[in-house]
Amino acid sequence: MNAPLPHPPAVRTTCPYCGVGCGLIVQPDGPGGATIAGDPTHPANEGRICSKGSALGETLALDARLLHPMLRQPDGSLARASWDIALDRVAGGLKDIVDRHGPDAVAFYLSGQLLTEDYYVANKLMKGFIGSANVDTNSRLCMASSVAGHRRAFGSDTVPGTYADLDEADLIVLTGSNAAWCHPVLFQRMVRNKAERGARIVVIDPRRTATGADADLFLPVAPGMDTALFSGLLVHLAEQDALDESYIRLHTSGFNDALARAKAIAPDIDATAQATGLEAAQVRAFFDLFRTTARVVTCYSQGVNQSAQGTDKVNAIINCHLATGRIGKPGCGPFSLTGQPNAMGGREVGGLANMLAAHMGFSPAEVDRVRRFWDAPRMAEREGLKAVQMFEAIARGEIKALWVMATNPAVSLPRAGAVREALGKLDLFVVSENVLSNDTVNAGPHVLLPAAAWGEKDGTVTNSERRISRQRAFLPLPGEARPDWQIVSDVAAKLGHADAFAYRSVADVCREHAALSGFENGGTRDFDIGGLASISDADYDALAPVQWPVPQTPSPSLEKGGSDCRRQSGEGSTRTATPTRQPPAADLPLSGEGKEKRFFADGGFFTPDRKGRFIATEPPALKEATSADFPLRLNTGRIRDQWHTMTRTGMSPRLATHLPEPFVEVHPGDAARASLVDGGFARVATAHGACIVKVVVTEDQQPGSIFLPIHWSGDTASCARADDLVSACTDPHSGQPEAKATPASIAPVVFAMRGLVRTHRPVVLPNATWWTRVAAADGHEYRIATDHGPLMWHDFAYRMLAADAKLAEHLDQRSYRAEAIVDGEVDGLIWIGPTDQPLSLELGTLDVHDDGVPLAQIAAISLFKTEPVVCACFGVDAARIRNAVASGSAGTVAEIGQATQAGTNCGSCLPELKRMIAQERAKLRTKEPVK
Ligand code: SF4
Repeated sequence: MNAPLPHPPAVRTTCPYCGVGCGLIVQPDGPGGATIAGDPTHPANEGRICSKGSALGETLALDARLLHPMLRQPDGSLARASWDIALDRVAGGLKDIVDRHGPDAVAFYLSGQLLTEDYYVANKLMKGFIGSANVDTNSRLCMASSVAGHRRAFGSDTVPGTYADLDEADLIVLTGSNAAWCHPVLFQRMVRNKAERGARIVVIDPRRTATGADADLFLPVAPGMDTALFSGLLVHLAEQDALDESYIRLHTSGFNDALARAKAIAPDIDATAQATGLEAAQVRAFFDLFRTTARVVTCYSQGVNQSAQGTDKVNAIINCHLATGRIGKPGCGPFSLTGQPNAMGGREVGGLANMLAAHMGFSPAEVDRVRRFWDAPRMAEREGLKAVQMFEAIARGEIKALWVMATNPAVSLPRAGAVREALGKLDLFVVSENVLSNDTVNAGPHVLLPAAAWGEKDGTVTNSERRISRQRAFLPLPGEARPDWQIVSDVAAKLGHADAFAYRSVADVCREHAALSGFENGGTRDFDIGGLASISDADYDALAPVQWPVPQTPSPSLEKGGSDCRRQSGEGSTRTATPTRQPPAADLPLSGEGKEKRFFADGGFFTPDRKGRFIATEPPALKEATSADFPLRLNTGRIRDQWHTMTRTGMSPRLATHLPEPFVEVHPGDAARASLVDGGFARVATAHGACIVKVVVTEDQQPGSIFLPIHWSGDTASCARADDLVSACTDPHSGQPEAKATPASIAPVVFAMRGLVRTHRPVVLPNATWWTRVAAADGHEYRIATDHGPLMWHDFAYRMLAADAKLAEHLDQRSYRAEAIVDGEVDGLIWIGPTDQPLSLELGTLDVHDDGVPLAQIAAISLFKTEPVVCACFGVDAARIRNAVASGSAGTVAEIGQATQAGTNCGSCLPELKRMIAQERAKLRTKEPVK
């Protein structure tokens, strides 16, 4: 008997989803799967992971992967091509367009999902060798306002604090951040601080999210009015003598102007309350908490950033921390929670159109420094076009070539419908991707390049606290996929820049990036990882998470620039990326360095006078007014168990159980006015587009405001692309679009029939059918609403399900049901019935076309459930939790865990459990007889 094959070694790596940057230990199983666990030695998560991270093992299948280069043919079809031919097409196309129209006729659109090394090489090619700064990224949609706010206040894009501050703070303010869902592991860290040290939590959000469940004080601020609240706070701190006069005098400038402007915006508590829509008592309670607590961290995220006044909001927050000297000290500081896994790495390399490289901008001295370092022949000398403007320039025909890497702008950009149209105008449209199908891939690129995915690629990412961690490969590269840095370097070589892009390994790229950060730095720039510039290949492979800055070890050779750095580095590295050899997990190097690095406790800002700048903010005002046609405000955001456009999380059946259908949240008053029914359908429309989604009526939503999740695309739903509806109105400083307050309307939609289709393969549903597709155990499940009658579905079943199967079916005037049976097993099924009748779990008798075919039980029947699954780890739905509370068998989160297992694994559902317990108890109280 053959001995079992040994497991491949375990690998330490980093989660590919949010900016928390959790460390993982991955145990590959050999055939392409892996088990995932949190890395207990990683300082970001200390072994904890959330529902998304723990389901990563369900997302490694290759069925939907792009595995070979593809070229668009004259007849519009795509055909496989060799790498050489595909790269010739990209390089030749870029060269031709630059020759004819100049460098600004080309653009790269990058992604916070790229690794830092990928980002670095793409940025270098465009800004130093093509000669344009038209390099922007989906991070523009995520945290560009934080970048702009940091640069205005600090002179640099610096996150001053660390995650340890969340353990040491006595007051944590979360504004515009649903951290319970979007940064779950970090949020649980805050909750632990509250439980163990008594820290208080204030949540400021127009919408009562899961994060609010743990709040000591919840402030339902009016949409867009954060600046008024923090302006009022600044005034309050000044009037209550709660300023740090010494810090202001020694380390800052501009205080008087900022205070005068704040007084004009929110002169007192009553005026603040009026501007923000809060009660004066709520405002006073918040101001008193902030004033009397020495250790305060204010966390902010997309609710602040995704705004046409996002930069002012960020600066209004920073003003309060500068004024009290609560910055750079343990437990203190403004803290931008970054949405994406490597938005920070992208910022570090300069992957934004208004940054050059290594946190340098476009001053003549900086351009000259980078030119000398890169030995660059054609430097960009001014800022490029930011994301929204970039796609507008494509629509006008000014940008003629676009290379999209690792992102899905056809869904995620505002006015996404217009973006899709614009893509059709390009002379050269290149997409580097993992997947065979998404809205951008389906928008007609001329060249598709298969890129390495998470688990196959190697490099570094930086999380929200400036901690650089390794992502390591633990799977072989499938098909002909290549790492992005290598693809870009190959194109650069074909453009005649082989010497400048002659990286032999990803470690080579890291060394050059590190050397540039330290080049002529001398403490004048915040971002300095020069200490990694001479790291050996072995040390790079074993690199433990490290928080920057990591200053350069004095080394004269590093001053010689990029080429010399590359030549002096590298030990036996190869150009072909292969999985990094790793020792067993127990022997892996420990992650923690045990030392926190903070900025600005004693000033030392990166402005010309080294002082932090107070910013006089503009009065808050939403740029687009509501109207009779669009009387509501559309807010968009994320849900707990999905990530971006679901190209990875959408592969996990477990994650699909949480909130499987696209929905809109509506306040009961607005729902009643619009004749909407909870669980029914609504058409949500703005001036830019419309979608049709399920209705969730909830008091968590403010009157006048509705909420749509951003995750569904044309690949996963018939009509639920939220960003089709979002305004392209942008912040004047950051260029970040307003994704939280587009004027909108809502109206009911009624379908006669509903049901589901379940298949192993994707199917095309009849026109005018509402559908959404979720991952099922061994295929796809389509939830359907339709006005097509049973006969149409009977025909559909014969077209889509019966090719190699025998159908067992039942057809009557109001319903149709069928099982497609292959070798006695259910291969697919369809069930359609009237909307006005309750879903029946009984299939009844099916007619059998072939008497010899046995009927199989339909295992998928439980998926008719309408209750959302709250605990994805153990499949516990809301009804079980409500029943446990209502029956009196469980009244705390711990008791719910004992009764149902919910919340006992990753903990992502704990905020929802708390909220449900509170809601059920409130209901019980109202039912108690009056004594
Ligand atoms: S909190 Fe969850 S999604 Fe974010 S990095 Fe950690 S495991 Fe990944």
